This record gives sequence, C-alpha cells and structure tokens, in this order.
Amino acid sequence: MDLAPKDLARLRRRLLEWYERHRRDLPWRREPTLYRVLLSEFMLQQTRVDQALPYYHRFLAAFPTLRALAEAELGAVMKLWEGLGYYRRAKFLHAAARHLAPIAQPGVADLDGCPGIGPYTKAAIGSIVWGAPLAVVDGNVNRVFARLTALALPPAGSAGKKQVQALADALLAPGRSGDWNQAVMELGATVCSPRAPQCLICPLESFCAARKAGQPEAFPIVAAKAPRPHKQIAAAIIRRGDGKILIAQRLSGGLLGDLWEFPGGKQESGEPLSETCAREVKEELGVEVDVGAEVYAIEHGYSHFTITLHVFECVYRGGKPRTLGCQAFKWVAQSELKAFPFPRANQEIIARLSAGKARGVRKGRAAKKRAKRTAK
Ligand code: SF4
Repeated sequence: MDLAPKDLARLRRRLLEWYERHRRDLPWRREPTLYRVLLSEFMLQQTRVDQALPYYHRFLAAFPTLRALAEAELGAVMKLWEGLGYYRRAKFLHAAARHLAPIAQPGVADLDGCPGIGPYTKAAIGSIVWGAPLAVVDGNVNRVFARLTALALPPAGSAGKKQVQALADALLAPGRSGDWNQAVMELGATVCSPRAPQCLICPLESFCAARKAGQPEAFPIVAAKAPRPHKQIAAAIIRRGDGKILIAQRLSGGLLGDLWEFPGGKQESGEPLSETCAREVKEELGVEVDVGAEVYAIEHGYSHFTITLHVFECVYRGGKPRTLGCQAFKWVAQSELKAFPFPRANQEIIARLSAGKARGVRKGRAAKKRAKRTAK
C-alpha cells in the first residue's frame, strides 16, 4: 500500500478518532495493567469477547493479582477455565504468571521465553501495557488489511503473512501503538466483519481497495480447507459396588492434557464400540469391566476433527487401577465429579448424569452438517 505521508497521517488519524468514539467499554481497557491485559489476551485467543467476559471476571475474583494466580494450584486454574476450551491456554497462563510474578518491574523483554507468548501476544501485551512499537496481526487484522489492499494472496499462507505483517508494521501509529493495534482489531470485530462489512460507516472506506472493487466480502482470499475427519470414541462410566465412579486424568502435554475424563478412546477399524470401550479401559487403567448399554452419544467438534462420544455404563469387574495411559485416577462419588476439571464433551456426560437423563444424542452443528453431507 503506497501512501503519501499526508495520506498515511490521515488514515491513522481517522482510525484512531473512530476508535476513541466507538470502542467497546471492555474491563481490561479501563485498567490496562500487565495482569489484566495478559488475562484478556490469553482468554481471547480463539474465543469471542462475550464468551470470555464471564471467565475474565471469575478469574479476577478468584485471583486478584498476578502473584495470586502464580501461587494458585494448576488444578484450581484449570477448574476455573473449564468450559472455555483450548485448555493449553490455561496452563500457559498459569506458567506465564509464575514466570512474570517474581520480576520486580517487568517490561516487554521479559515476555521473551514466557510460556504461551508468541509474536502476536507479545505485540499485543507489549503495545497495550508499555506502548512498545510492535504491530499485532490476528484474524481481524488479517481481514482488515487484506481488504484494505485487496490482497491477492491468502493471508494465512507464508507469502500472505509476510505482506500483512509488513503492512501492519508500516501503518503502526508512532507513539500510540497500543491504541492503534486495538483500533484495527476493533474495526475487524465490529465493522469489517467476515460476511457483512459495514463499509458505509467505516472510517477507512476511502482508502479501501476491496471496497473500491465493489467486493469486500471476496477478501481475504481463503485457501481451500480439507474437511475435518470424524472419530468414533467410546467412554466408560465405570461403577463399583459402593456406587463410586472411576475417572482418569489425561497425560500432560497432549490434547486436553491434565484434564479429567471418563476413561476410553478411539474405535479401531471394524471394532464394535463396546469392545473399544473395554479395550481402552484396560489399556488406560489396567482394569476389567463388564460393558453395559450405550447410554449417551454426544457430538463434539475440535479445531482439527470432530467426534461422536459413545458413553457406556460399565461395571467394575477387577484389576487394580494403574496409570498405564493416564497420569492419575480416582474413585469418586457422582456428586464429586463437578469438583474436577473435565473437557466439554465429558461435562455433558456429568450434566446428563446429574439430570438423570436417559439415552439420547446431542446433535451439534458438526453432526447436522455431516448428516446433510451423507444425505446428498
Ligand atoms: S471499507 Fe469495508 S471492507 Fe474496507 S476496511 Fe472498511 S469495512 Fe472493511
């Protein structure tokens, strides 16, 4: 984007003035301390503002300072994060708090090597908290800048990424990097939306190449995506004589690491699901179970695949539980399940158990789409 200095100044002024007038009143903007901005940035990765807000308030109430978060047990942090998804963020947030809390006067350089803080988060926190001259590029920024320049490449590709970052660096408003970064993101979130950009009220309309071309929605160009694979998963509600249920804690580091779950795993080709259930329980915990009826089938989607979680009532038959494919296990009363952090699909099992619900399938969007595809 080639702009004469006076046009560049005009573009910056327009967006910053618009931001001052129209920005949403968000709690981390009122008091942009390191802790509050850190909290908001971790929560807003992959999550909408309205979903993150209740968690933000809940975290501040439970852990009012960076030090309080650093001193908390990881399990308590994970429990509070339950339902927000992408649980690695909670672990990284906790680790970042432990990294930063002991530093007397932290600055932008202290974010280097901080767990979970890559170039985007460093630029966001650095510019908002300390005014560091770092340009952020996230999904909203990609969309705004791809439209502004009618970028002929997908911004998710390596060449497109370089172009958007170069543009972001060139447009960054000197001395107001935090406001500028937030203004671009705010414009993407509220005006330059993916499907219905409101060009008539956009402060950048006169600069926008996609608007001039009459096709703002055609940008950013998106590379074709392969459909997400679907997996069949069996999970066991294992009860013993006293009514307690066996739950397992997933290994650290992998998908949903450190969360608790009803034991189970992926169906192998040609394997009946009840056998999957018994096999996975044996492999994970070394115990034998009698697999009873399938009581629930729950559809759930992750970023790279979708699942149907087939839940079986099982009776414990024998074998001392061991940590073969998990890091811990516990026998707990049904009423105690809510004290542990579980992934969302497992929370659905707990909710159904609590409500005493009979067999049923929750049809999520993924399931409906898949059913449509199959019907064609
Ligand atoms: S003019 Fe339209 S397409 Fe261009 S940045 Fe503004 S809202 Fe987005």
